[in-house]
Amino acid sequence: NSSLHELDPDVAAAVDAELHRQQSTLEMIASENFAPVAVLEAQGSVLTNKYAEGYPGRRYYGGCEHVDVIEQLAIDRVKALFGAEHANVQPHSGAQANAAAMFALLSPGDTILGLSLAHGGHLTHGMKINFSGKLYNVVPYHVDADSGLVDMEEVERLAREHRPKMIVAGWSAYPRQLDFPAFRRIADEVGAYLMVDMAHFAGLVAAGLHPSPVPYADVVTTTTHKTLGGPRGGVILSRAELAKKINSAVFPGQQGGPLEHVIAAKAVAFKVAATEDFKDRQLRTLEGAKILAERLGRPDLAEAGVSVLSGGTDVHLVLVDLRDSELDGQQAEDRLHEVGITVNRNAVPNDPRPPMVTSGLRIGTPALATRGFRTEDFHEVADIIAETLTPGFDADRAKALGARVSALAAKHPLYPDLKK
Ligand code: PLP
Repeated sequence: NSSLHELDPDVAAAVDAELHRQQSTLEMIASENFAPVAVLEAQGSVLTNKYAEGYPGRRYYGGCEHVDVIEQLAIDRVKALFGAEHANVQPHSGAQANAAAMFALLSPGDTILGLSLAHGGHLTHGMKINFSGKLYNVVPYHVDADSGLVDMEEVERLAREHRPKMIVAGWSAYPRQLDFPAFRRIADEVGAYLMVDMAHFAGLVAAGLHPSPVPYADVVTTTTHKTLGGPRGGVILSRAELAKKINSAVFPGQQGGPLEHVIAAKAVAFKVAATEDFKDRQLRTLEGAKILAERLGRPDLAEAGVSVLSGGTDVHLVLVDLRDSELDGQQAEDRLHEVGITVNRNAVPNDPRPPMVTSGLRIGTPALATRGFRTEDFHEVADIIAETLTPGFDADRAKALGARVSALAAKHPLYPDLKK
């Protein structure tokens, strides 16, 4: 019964160092967030010990009376949050939610349409060496080179030509909202299922600040740890008539025992997501992204060859285009790291540089909004990023910018009560 520090000081030291990293730097990876302490507590609870194959009330193991309560709470809360007829809260991750949803509705060899990875789609939407690309016949669609928006004419043309069994709408790197009614119309025309992967923008949907895909899609998948701000995990929502297929695709189709400690943490996160505080946080997330897009779109950045893809954002992230900059994605990511801001380099559509280098950055605001950032803080962080990406960056400037990052971090303490 020793503590982590007593039993395993090596792991404990790395955990402490990670806590310090999160507290002292600015996290702007668009897919990350800070889970509330109550979520961490649920996830670190004794529920991790329990096997519970099956579903509430229909388990293959004894002693499930308490985890049944927890899983049912998670199901009821997420259904209410998104107005869904059915929910499965067991997928261990977003990738597994997508795998199960496809497994439920498709057979190997079926055709799917998905947004190309290079244009902002996710691995599970049909990347060649992902399960989705290996099992299914993938026809990718793209964003328009000029506008940066998903080319719905191409989606329609490809759907008519290839008659897919499923159209996947959703993204990992896209700064705008998708047209769900248009996707539904095209899916209906060719008799395809419509699956929406709202992993990135689920928190905005929950807060009523982004159109909901739920009324339009046959199945909606999400992660619970991005804008939703919960534990790492996945969820599948669907119409009631698909419930049986979805449930049996998750278990026994894809997974064994559900992670009831994570499901408890999901239940807590869904409760939080229904509050006014959560809505305020999502409003600040959106405002922060708009401030960032406006700042990085100004002439001083344009002169440095830096611009914002699609000219702005409607969501929680900005895609920075470095194709005309002296900096590539790797160098820009490294520079920001040097001043204490964490982002990820990201390919831009038709990127001339290789995927490990790229010509873009993906910068998101959810984690900073969770930390309490407001208008003036986002202006300051946008200025810091702008000054990091413009010519003349040297050790002195790095030091000055690093001090401004530290001041922002100190202004908004993170996890002040977690001991080191
Ligand atoms: N779907 C989308 C759109 C994503 O962006 C991601 C993760 O980045 C996933 C699914 C996969 O989630 P996970 O990393 O939990 O498997």
